[in-house]
Amino acid sequence: MNHAGKVIEGLMRAELDRYTAANPASRRLAERAAEAFPGGVPLHWMRDWATPFPLFMAEARGAELIDADGHHYVDFCLGDTGSMFGHSPAPVVRAVSDQIARGVTAMLPTEDGVAAAEALARRFGLPFWQVTTTATDANRFVLRWARAITGRSKILVFNGCYHGTVDDTFVRLEDGRAVHRPGLLGQATDLTATTKVVEFNDLAGLEAALAPGDVACVITEPALTNIGMVLPEPGFHAALRDLTRRHGTLLVIDETHTISTGPGGWTREYGLEPDVFTLGKPIAGGIPCGVYGFTAEIEARMRRVEAGVPHGHSGMGTTLSANALAMRALRAMLEEVMTEAAYAGMVDRARGLAAGIEAAVARHGLAWHVTQIGARVEFHFTPTPYRSGSEAAAAMRPDLEQLVNLFLINRGILIAPFHNMMLTSPATTEAQIARFHDAFDACAAALAGHA
Ligand code: PMP
Repeated sequence: MNHAGKVIEGLMRAELDRYTAANPASRRLAERAAEAFPGGVPLHWMRDWATPFPLFMAEARGAELIDADGHHYVDFCLGDTGSMFGHSPAPVVRAVSDQIARGVTAMLPTEDGVAAAEALARRFGLPFWQVTTTATDANRFVLRWARAITGRSKILVFNGCYHGTVDDTFVRLEDGRAVHRPGLLGQATDLTATTKVVEFNDLAGLEAALAPGDVACVITEPALTNIGMVLPEPGFHAALRDLTRRHGTLLVIDETHTISTGPGGWTREYGLEPDVFTLGKPIAGGIPCGVYGFTAEIEARMRRVEAGVPHGHSGMGTTLSANALAMRALRAMLEEVMTEAAYAGMVDRARGLAAGIEAAVARHGLAWHVTQIGARVEFHFTPTPYRSGSEAAAAMRPDLEQLVNLFLINRGILIAPFHNMMLTSPATTEAQIARFHDAFDACAAALAGHA
Protein backbone atom coordinates (compact mmCIF):
# COMPACT_ATOMS: atom_id res chain seq x y z
CA MET A 1 0.00 0.00 0.00
CA ASN A 2 1.34 3.47 -0.86
CA HIS A 3 1.71 6.31 1.64
CA ALA A 4 -1.65 7.93 0.79
CA GLY A 5 -3.40 4.58 1.22
CA LYS A 6 -1.82 4.16 4.65
CA VAL A 7 -2.90 7.65 5.70
CA ILE A 8 -6.50 6.94 4.64
CA GLU A 9 -6.45 3.62 6.47
CA GLY A 10 -5.07 5.25 9.62
CA LEU A 11 -7.72 7.98 9.53
CA MET A 12 -10.42 5.34 9.04
CA ARG A 13 -9.23 3.33 12.06
CA ALA A 14 -9.39 6.43 14.24
CA GLU A 15 -12.90 7.26 13.01
CA LEU A 16 -14.12 3.69 13.61
CA ASP A 17 -12.83 3.86 17.21
CA ARG A 18 -14.40 7.26 17.72
CA TYR A 19 -17.77 6.06 16.44
CA THR A 20 -17.72 2.91 18.57
CA ALA A 21 -16.91 4.87 21.73
CA ALA A 22 -19.59 7.47 21.06
CA ASN A 23 -22.51 5.14 20.28
CA PRO A 24 -23.08 2.55 23.04
CA ALA A 25 -26.88 2.60 22.70
CA SER A 26 -26.76 2.00 18.94
CA ARG A 27 -24.26 -0.75 19.58
CA ARG A 28 -26.55 -2.50 22.07
CA LEU A 29 -29.47 -2.26 19.64
CA ALA A 30 -27.27 -3.60 16.85
CA GLU A 31 -26.37 -6.60 18.99
CA ARG A 32 -30.05 -7.30 19.71
CA ALA A 33 -30.96 -6.77 16.06
CA ALA A 34 -28.36 -9.30 14.93
CA GLU A 35 -30.44 -11.99 16.65
CA ALA A 36 -33.54 -11.10 14.63
CA PHE A 37 -32.33 -9.82 11.26
CA PRO A 38 -29.78 -11.51 9.01
CA GLY A 39 -26.96 -8.99 8.90
CA GLY A 40 -28.55 -7.09 11.78
CA VAL A 41 -30.90 -4.87 9.75
CA PRO A 42 -34.44 -5.23 8.35
CA LEU A 43 -33.33 -3.87 4.94
CA HIS A 44 -29.80 -4.66 3.77
CA TRP A 45 -29.18 -1.10 2.50
CA MET A 46 -29.11 -0.02 6.14
CA ARG A 47 -25.75 -1.78 6.34
CA ASP A 48 -24.28 0.28 3.52
CA TRP A 49 -23.17 3.12 5.79
CA ALA A 50 -19.50 3.38 6.71
CA THR A 51 -20.29 2.80 10.40
CA PRO A 52 -19.04 -0.44 12.02
CA PHE A 53 -22.59 -1.05 13.28
CA PRO A 54 -25.78 0.79 12.27
CA LEU A 55 -26.62 4.15 13.74
CA PHE A 56 -30.10 3.72 15.22
CA MET A 57 -32.50 6.58 14.62
CA ALA A 58 -34.62 7.77 17.54
CA GLU A 59 -36.48 10.56 15.75
CA ALA A 60 -36.19 13.10 12.97
CA ARG A 61 -37.82 16.40 12.12
CA GLY A 62 -37.09 18.87 9.35
CA ALA A 63 -33.40 18.48 8.49
CA GLU A 64 -32.41 17.17 11.91
CA LEU A 65 -32.12 13.57 13.11
CA ILE A 66 -31.52 12.34 16.65
CA ASP A 67 -29.92 8.95 17.24
CA ALA A 68 -30.40 6.37 19.99
CA ASP A 69 -27.50 7.89 21.98
CA GLY A 70 -29.06 11.33 21.82
CA HIS A 71 -26.67 12.87 19.26
CA HIS A 72 -28.16 15.46 16.94
CA TYR A 73 -27.29 15.35 13.24
CA VAL A 74 -27.85 17.69 10.34
CA ASP A 75 -29.38 15.32 7.81
CA PHE A 76 -28.33 15.83 4.18
CA CYS A 77 -29.11 12.20 3.29
CA LEU A 78 -32.81 12.65 3.98
CA GLY A 79 -33.58 8.99 3.50
CA ASP A 80 -31.76 8.98 0.14
CA THR A 81 -34.48 11.33 -1.20
CA GLY A 82 -37.52 9.82 0.58
CA SER A 83 -37.51 12.79 2.98
CA MET A 84 -36.18 15.34 0.54
CA PHE A 85 -38.69 17.95 1.72
CA GLY A 86 -37.66 17.46 5.35
CA HIS A 87 -38.65 14.80 7.86
CA SER A 88 -42.36 14.88 8.72
CA PRO A 89 -43.40 18.15 7.01
CA ALA A 90 -46.19 19.78 9.06
CA PRO A 91 -48.90 19.57 6.33
CA VAL A 92 -48.24 15.84 5.93
CA VAL A 93 -48.28 15.28 9.70
CA ARG A 94 -51.67 17.02 9.87
CA ALA A 95 -53.10 15.17 6.88
CA VAL A 96 -51.85 11.73 7.85
CA SER A 97 -52.79 12.14 11.54
CA ASP A 98 -56.33 12.97 10.51
CA GLN A 99 -56.64 10.30 7.82
CA ILE A 100 -55.17 7.45 9.85
CA ALA A 101 -58.21 7.59 12.15
CA ARG A 102 -60.62 7.71 9.19
CA GLY A 103 -59.59 4.62 7.28
CA VAL A 104 -56.25 3.68 5.80
CA THR A 105 -57.01 1.35 2.91
CA ALA A 106 -60.29 0.17 1.42
CA MET A 107 -59.55 -0.56 -2.25
CA LEU A 108 -61.84 2.32 -3.14
CA PRO A 109 -60.84 5.69 -4.61
CA THR A 110 -61.03 8.92 -2.61
CA GLU A 111 -61.53 12.60 -3.42
CA ASP A 112 -57.96 13.25 -2.24
CA GLY A 113 -56.78 10.97 -5.03
CA VAL A 114 -58.68 12.97 -7.66
CA ALA A 115 -57.25 16.24 -6.35
CA ALA A 116 -53.75 14.71 -6.32
CA ALA A 117 -54.08 13.51 -9.94
CA GLU A 118 -55.26 16.98 -10.99
CA ALA A 119 -52.28 18.52 -9.20
CA LEU A 120 -49.88 16.07 -10.87
CA ALA A 121 -51.34 16.89 -14.29
CA ARG A 122 -50.98 20.64 -13.71
CA ARG A 123 -47.44 20.27 -12.39
CA PHE A 124 -45.95 17.85 -14.90
CA GLY A 125 -48.08 18.52 -17.98
CA LEU A 126 -49.23 14.92 -18.49
CA PRO A 127 -53.00 14.29 -18.39
CA PHE A 128 -53.26 10.70 -17.06
CA TRP A 129 -51.85 9.11 -13.90
CA GLN A 130 -51.65 5.82 -12.04
CA VAL A 131 -50.48 5.25 -8.50
CA THR A 132 -48.20 2.54 -7.09
CA THR A 133 -46.59 1.90 -3.72
CA THR A 134 -42.98 2.52 -4.77
CA ALA A 135 -40.99 4.06 -7.61
CA THR A 136 -39.71 0.55 -8.35
CA ASP A 137 -43.28 -0.59 -8.97
CA ALA A 138 -44.03 2.43 -11.14
CA ASN A 139 -41.05 1.61 -13.34
CA ARG A 140 -41.81 -2.11 -13.44
CA PHE A 141 -45.41 -1.53 -14.51
CA VAL A 142 -44.39 1.06 -17.07
CA LEU A 143 -42.00 -1.39 -18.73
CA ARG A 144 -44.86 -3.88 -18.92
CA TRP A 145 -47.18 -1.29 -20.44
CA ALA A 146 -44.54 -0.22 -22.96
CA ARG A 147 -44.09 -3.80 -24.12
CA ALA A 148 -47.85 -4.38 -24.23
CA ILE A 149 -48.70 -1.34 -26.30
CA THR A 150 -45.78 -1.52 -28.73
CA GLY A 151 -45.79 -5.30 -29.12
CA ARG A 152 -41.98 -5.18 -28.77
CA SER A 153 -40.07 -7.27 -26.24
CA LYS A 154 -36.92 -5.19 -25.72
CA ILE A 155 -36.12 -2.21 -23.55
CA LEU A 156 -33.06 0.03 -23.49
CA VAL A 157 -31.23 1.42 -20.45
CA PHE A 158 -28.10 3.50 -20.04
CA ASN A 159 -25.03 1.99 -18.46
CA GLY A 160 -24.85 2.74 -14.74
CA CYS A 161 -28.58 3.37 -14.41
CA TYR A 162 -30.73 2.51 -11.41
CA HIS A 163 -34.51 2.49 -11.50
CA GLY A 164 -35.28 0.50 -8.37
CA THR A 165 -35.26 -3.26 -8.05
CA VAL A 166 -36.58 -3.79 -11.55
CA ASP A 167 -34.68 -6.83 -12.76
CA ASP A 168 -34.93 -5.86 -16.44
CA THR A 169 -32.79 -2.79 -15.71
CA PHE A 170 -30.04 -4.74 -13.85
CA VAL A 171 -27.91 -4.99 -16.97
CA ARG A 172 -24.48 -3.41 -17.39
CA LEU A 173 -21.80 -2.97 -20.01
CA GLU A 174 -18.61 -4.89 -19.39
CA ASP A 175 -15.95 -4.44 -22.07
CA GLY A 176 -18.73 -3.26 -24.38
CA ARG A 177 -20.91 -6.35 -23.73
CA ALA A 178 -24.22 -6.45 -21.86
CA VAL A 179 -24.04 -8.57 -18.69
CA HIS A 180 -26.13 -9.00 -15.56
CA ARG A 181 -25.22 -6.61 -12.81
CA PRO A 182 -23.09 -8.51 -10.30
CA GLY A 183 -25.19 -9.17 -7.23
CA LEU A 184 -28.43 -9.89 -9.11
CA LEU A 185 -29.29 -12.97 -7.09
CA GLY A 186 -31.73 -15.63 -8.18
CA GLN A 187 -32.56 -14.25 -11.62
CA ALA A 188 -33.06 -17.33 -13.81
CA THR A 189 -33.71 -15.49 -17.09
CA ASP A 190 -31.01 -14.05 -19.33
CA LEU A 191 -32.05 -10.40 -19.16
CA THR A 192 -29.50 -9.41 -21.80
CA ALA A 193 -31.77 -11.06 -24.36
CA THR A 194 -34.37 -8.34 -23.83
CA THR A 195 -32.45 -5.40 -22.33
CA LYS A 196 -30.09 -3.37 -24.47
CA VAL A 197 -27.61 -1.13 -22.75
CA VAL A 198 -25.62 1.79 -24.14
CA GLU A 199 -23.54 4.54 -22.56
CA PHE A 200 -25.27 7.76 -21.53
CA ASN A 201 -24.41 10.57 -23.98
CA ASP A 202 -23.56 8.01 -26.71
CA LEU A 203 -25.98 9.02 -29.45
CA ALA A 204 -24.39 6.83 -32.13
CA GLY A 205 -24.71 3.78 -29.86
CA LEU A 206 -28.30 4.72 -29.08
CA GLU A 207 -29.22 5.07 -32.73
CA ALA A 208 -27.65 1.71 -33.59
CA ALA A 209 -29.56 0.03 -30.75
CA LEU A 210 -32.91 1.54 -31.76
CA ALA A 211 -32.49 1.00 -35.52
CA PRO A 212 -33.79 -2.63 -35.64
CA GLY A 213 -37.17 -1.33 -34.41
CA ASP A 214 -37.48 -3.87 -31.59
CA VAL A 215 -37.16 -1.59 -28.56
CA ALA A 216 -40.42 -0.89 -26.71
CA CYS A 217 -39.01 1.93 -24.59
CA VAL A 218 -35.94 3.74 -23.40
CA ILE A 219 -36.08 4.29 -19.64
CA THR A 220 -33.72 6.87 -18.20
CA GLU A 221 -33.24 9.53 -15.60
CA PRO A 222 -32.70 12.98 -17.13
CA ALA A 223 -29.18 12.78 -15.65
CA LEU A 224 -27.75 9.60 -14.14
CA THR A 225 -27.79 10.05 -10.37
CA ASN A 226 -27.06 6.59 -9.07
CA ILE A 227 -23.46 6.18 -10.17
CA GLY A 228 -22.26 9.54 -9.03
CA MET A 229 -23.79 12.11 -11.35
CA VAL A 230 -23.54 11.98 -15.12
CA LEU A 231 -25.08 15.05 -16.70
CA PRO A 232 -26.48 15.08 -20.26
CA GLU A 233 -24.33 16.85 -22.81
CA PRO A 234 -25.93 19.74 -24.71
CA GLY A 235 -28.36 18.37 -27.28
CA PHE A 236 -28.52 14.88 -25.75
CA HIS A 237 -32.15 15.05 -24.68
CA ALA A 238 -33.35 16.60 -27.93
CA ALA A 239 -31.58 13.85 -29.88
CA LEU A 240 -32.90 11.13 -27.52
CA ARG A 241 -36.45 12.36 -28.07
CA ASP A 242 -35.97 12.59 -31.82
CA LEU A 243 -34.43 9.13 -32.14
CA THR A 244 -37.04 7.43 -29.96
CA ARG A 245 -39.86 9.03 -31.96
CA ARG A 246 -38.26 8.09 -35.23
CA HIS A 247 -37.96 4.43 -34.23
CA GLY A 248 -41.39 4.07 -32.60
CA THR A 249 -39.80 3.66 -29.16
CA LEU A 250 -41.47 5.16 -26.10
CA LEU A 251 -39.49 7.50 -23.86
CA VAL A 252 -39.85 6.92 -20.12
CA ILE A 253 -38.33 9.58 -17.88
CA ASP A 254 -37.73 8.56 -14.26
CA GLU A 255 -37.67 11.69 -12.09
CA THR A 256 -37.45 9.94 -8.72
CA HIS A 257 -34.16 11.69 -7.92
CA THR A 258 -34.14 14.60 -10.36
CA ILE A 259 -37.34 15.96 -8.82
CA SER A 260 -34.67 17.91 -6.93
CA THR A 261 -34.35 20.13 -10.04
CA GLY A 262 -37.45 22.23 -9.48
CA PRO A 263 -41.22 22.01 -8.89
CA GLY A 264 -41.83 20.25 -12.24
CA GLY A 265 -38.67 18.19 -12.12
CA TRP A 266 -36.06 18.26 -14.88
CA THR A 267 -38.87 17.57 -17.36
CA ARG A 268 -40.53 20.95 -16.86
CA GLU A 269 -37.33 22.87 -16.18
CA TYR A 270 -35.77 21.81 -19.49
CA GLY A 271 -38.89 21.07 -21.56
CA LEU A 272 -38.51 17.29 -21.97
CA GLU A 273 -41.39 15.51 -23.72
CA PRO A 274 -41.61 12.02 -22.24
CA ASP A 275 -44.35 9.60 -23.23
CA VAL A 276 -44.32 8.32 -19.67
CA PHE A 277 -43.02 9.94 -16.50
CA THR A 278 -42.32 8.10 -13.23
CA LEU A 279 -41.70 9.36 -9.72
CA GLY A 280 -41.69 8.02 -6.17
CA LYS A 281 -39.75 8.37 -2.93
CA PRO A 282 -40.54 11.88 -1.55
CA ILE A 283 -43.85 12.57 -3.27
CA ALA A 284 -46.01 11.50 -0.34
CA GLY A 285 -43.57 12.80 2.27
CA GLY A 286 -42.09 9.33 2.84
CA ILE A 287 -45.42 7.51 3.04
CA PRO A 288 -44.94 4.75 0.44
CA CYS A 289 -46.22 6.04 -2.90
CA GLY A 290 -45.12 6.08 -6.53
CA VAL A 291 -46.83 7.54 -9.58
CA TYR A 292 -46.61 7.34 -13.34
CA GLY A 293 -48.08 9.81 -15.77
CA PHE A 294 -48.58 9.54 -19.51
CA THR A 295 -49.88 11.30 -22.59
CA ALA A 296 -53.38 11.00 -24.02
CA GLU A 297 -51.94 8.97 -26.89
CA ILE A 298 -50.41 6.43 -24.50
CA GLU A 299 -53.69 6.27 -22.57
CA ALA A 300 -55.59 5.47 -25.78
CA ARG A 301 -53.10 2.75 -26.69
CA MET A 302 -53.39 1.26 -23.20
CA ARG A 303 -57.16 1.08 -23.50
CA ARG A 304 -56.86 -0.62 -26.90
CA VAL A 305 -54.60 -3.41 -25.61
CA GLU A 306 -56.70 -3.80 -22.47
CA ALA A 307 -59.81 -4.27 -24.60
CA GLY A 308 -58.22 -7.32 -26.19
CA VAL A 309 -57.68 -9.32 -22.98
CA PRO A 310 -59.98 -10.57 -20.22
CA HIS A 311 -60.41 -8.07 -17.40
CA GLY A 312 -58.45 -8.81 -14.22
CA HIS A 313 -54.90 -9.70 -13.40
CA SER A 314 -52.73 -7.56 -15.65
CA GLY A 315 -49.62 -7.88 -13.48
CA MET A 316 -49.88 -4.18 -12.69
CA GLY A 317 -50.94 -3.02 -9.25
CA THR A 318 -50.62 -4.11 -5.61
CA THR A 319 -53.24 -4.16 -2.85
CA LEU A 320 -52.11 -1.19 -0.78
CA SER A 321 -51.40 1.13 -3.73
CA ALA A 322 -53.33 4.41 -3.93
CA ASN A 323 -54.91 3.82 -0.54
CA ALA A 324 -56.70 6.62 1.31
CA LEU A 325 -53.70 7.39 3.53
CA ALA A 326 -51.19 7.60 0.68
CA MET A 327 -53.54 9.75 -1.41
CA ARG A 328 -54.04 12.15 1.47
CA ALA A 329 -50.29 12.46 1.98
CA LEU A 330 -49.66 12.85 -1.76
CA ARG A 331 -52.24 15.62 -1.98
CA ALA A 332 -50.75 17.45 1.01
CA MET A 333 -47.26 17.26 -0.50
CA LEU A 334 -48.34 18.54 -3.91
CA GLU A 335 -50.60 21.30 -2.61
CA GLU A 336 -48.72 22.48 0.48
CA VAL A 337 -45.11 21.26 0.59
CA MET A 338 -43.58 20.98 -2.90
CA THR A 339 -44.23 24.65 -3.61
CA GLU A 340 -42.34 27.13 -5.81
CA ALA A 341 -41.25 28.99 -2.67
CA ALA A 342 -39.97 25.82 -1.00
CA TYR A 343 -37.91 24.97 -4.07
CA ALA A 344 -36.51 28.49 -4.36
CA GLY A 345 -35.16 28.23 -0.82
CA MET A 346 -33.77 24.72 -1.04
CA VAL A 347 -32.09 25.24 -4.39
CA ASP A 348 -30.55 28.47 -3.15
CA ARG A 349 -29.15 26.73 -0.06
CA ALA A 350 -27.83 23.90 -2.24
CA ARG A 351 -25.89 26.53 -4.21
CA GLY A 352 -24.34 27.74 -0.98
CA LEU A 353 -23.60 24.17 0.07
CA ALA A 354 -21.85 23.44 -3.26
CA ALA A 355 -19.89 26.72 -3.21
CA GLY A 356 -18.54 26.00 0.28
CA ILE A 357 -17.42 22.52 -0.77
CA GLU A 358 -15.67 23.93 -3.82
CA ALA A 359 -13.93 26.51 -1.65
CA ALA A 360 -12.67 23.85 0.81
CA VAL A 361 -11.52 21.62 -2.04
CA ALA A 362 -9.54 24.52 -3.52
CA ARG A 363 -8.18 25.59 -0.11
CA HIS A 364 -6.75 22.13 0.52
CA GLY A 365 -5.52 21.53 -3.03
CA LEU A 366 -7.77 18.51 -3.68
CA ALA A 367 -8.52 17.57 -7.30
CA TRP A 368 -12.24 17.01 -6.67
CA HIS A 369 -15.27 18.47 -8.42
CA VAL A 370 -18.84 19.21 -7.38
CA THR A 371 -22.11 18.68 -9.27
CA GLN A 372 -25.54 20.08 -8.50
CA ILE A 373 -29.05 19.28 -9.73
CA GLY A 374 -31.27 21.80 -7.97
CA ALA A 375 -31.38 20.72 -4.33
CA ARG A 376 -29.05 17.73 -4.93
CA VAL A 377 -25.31 18.15 -4.55
CA GLU A 378 -22.43 15.69 -4.83
CA PHE A 379 -18.67 15.92 -4.65
CA HIS A 380 -16.54 13.55 -6.69
CA PHE A 381 -12.94 12.47 -6.28
CA THR A 382 -11.84 13.50 -9.78
CA PRO A 383 -11.09 16.95 -11.21
CA THR A 384 -13.63 16.80 -14.07
CA PRO A 385 -17.24 15.58 -14.60
CA TYR A 386 -18.04 12.16 -16.05
CA ARG A 387 -19.48 11.67 -19.54
CA SER A 388 -20.75 8.14 -19.00
CA GLY A 389 -21.61 5.52 -16.41
CA SER A 390 -18.38 3.66 -17.21
CA GLU A 391 -16.29 6.75 -16.51
CA ALA A 392 -18.17 7.36 -13.27
CA ALA A 393 -17.79 3.72 -12.15
CA ALA A 394 -14.06 3.75 -12.89
CA ALA A 395 -13.63 6.86 -10.74
CA MET A 396 -15.31 5.36 -7.65
CA ARG A 397 -13.16 5.46 -4.51
CA PRO A 398 -14.93 3.31 -1.88
CA ASP A 399 -12.10 3.89 0.63
CA LEU A 400 -12.44 7.68 0.46
CA GLU A 401 -16.24 7.55 0.30
CA GLN A 402 -16.39 5.48 3.47
CA LEU A 403 -13.90 7.64 5.30
CA VAL A 404 -15.64 10.90 4.45
CA ASN A 405 -19.03 9.42 5.36
CA LEU A 406 -17.86 8.25 8.79
CA PHE A 407 -15.77 11.36 9.47
CA LEU A 408 -18.89 13.48 8.94
CA ILE A 409 -21.15 11.21 11.01
CA ASN A 410 -18.70 11.52 13.88
CA ARG A 411 -19.12 15.29 13.63
CA GLY A 412 -22.90 15.37 13.51
CA ILE A 413 -23.47 15.32 9.76
CA LEU A 414 -25.31 12.69 7.71
CA ILE A 415 -24.74 12.45 3.98
CA ALA A 416 -25.91 9.52 1.84
CA PRO A 417 -23.79 6.40 2.18
CA PHE A 418 -23.50 6.27 -1.62
CA HIS A 419 -21.32 8.53 -3.81
CA ASN A 420 -21.34 11.55 -1.44
CA MET A 421 -24.92 12.55 -2.20
CA MET A 422 -26.47 15.45 -0.28
CA LEU A 423 -29.87 17.12 -0.38
CA THR A 424 -31.06 20.41 1.02
CA SER A 425 -34.67 20.49 2.19
CA PRO A 426 -36.97 23.46 2.75
CA ALA A 427 -36.11 23.03 6.45
CA THR A 428 -32.31 23.14 5.98
CA THR A 429 -30.87 26.32 7.48
CA GLU A 430 -27.79 28.40 6.69
CA ALA A 431 -26.46 27.52 10.14
CA GLN A 432 -26.76 23.80 9.36
CA ILE A 433 -24.89 24.31 6.11
CA ALA A 434 -22.17 26.19 7.99
CA ARG A 435 -21.89 23.18 10.34
CA PHE A 436 -21.41 20.95 7.32
CA HIS A 437 -18.74 23.26 5.87
CA ASP A 438 -16.78 23.18 9.14
CA ALA A 439 -16.82 19.39 9.29
CA PHE A 440 -16.04 19.04 5.60
CA ASP A 441 -13.15 21.48 5.88
CA ALA A 442 -11.66 19.41 8.70
CA CYS A 443 -11.99 16.29 6.58
CA ALA A 444 -10.46 17.95 3.52
CA ALA A 445 -7.59 19.23 5.67
CA ALA A 446 -6.90 15.72 6.97
CA LEU A 447 -6.88 14.37 3.42
CA ALA A 448 -4.84 17.19 1.83
CA GLY A 449 -1.97 15.68 -0.10
CA HIS A 450 -3.34 12.14 0.29
CA ALA A 451 -6.46 12.01 -1.86
N1 PMP B 1 -35.77 5.38 -9.70
C1 PMP B 1 -34.63 5.96 -9.33
C2 PMP B 1 -33.98 6.94 -10.26
C3 PMP B 1 -34.04 5.67 -8.09
O1 PMP B 1 -32.89 6.26 -7.76
C4 PMP B 1 -34.68 4.76 -7.25
C5 PMP B 1 -34.12 4.39 -5.88
N2 PMP B 1 -32.87 4.86 -5.58
C6 PMP B 1 -35.88 4.19 -7.66
C7 PMP B 1 -36.39 4.52 -8.89
C8 PMP B 1 -36.60 3.20 -6.80
O2 PMP B 1 -37.13 3.75 -5.67
P1 PMP B 1 -37.74 2.78 -4.55
O3 PMP B 1 -36.57 2.01 -4.00
O4 PMP B 1 -38.33 3.70 -3.55
O5 PMP B 1 -38.72 1.91 -5.21
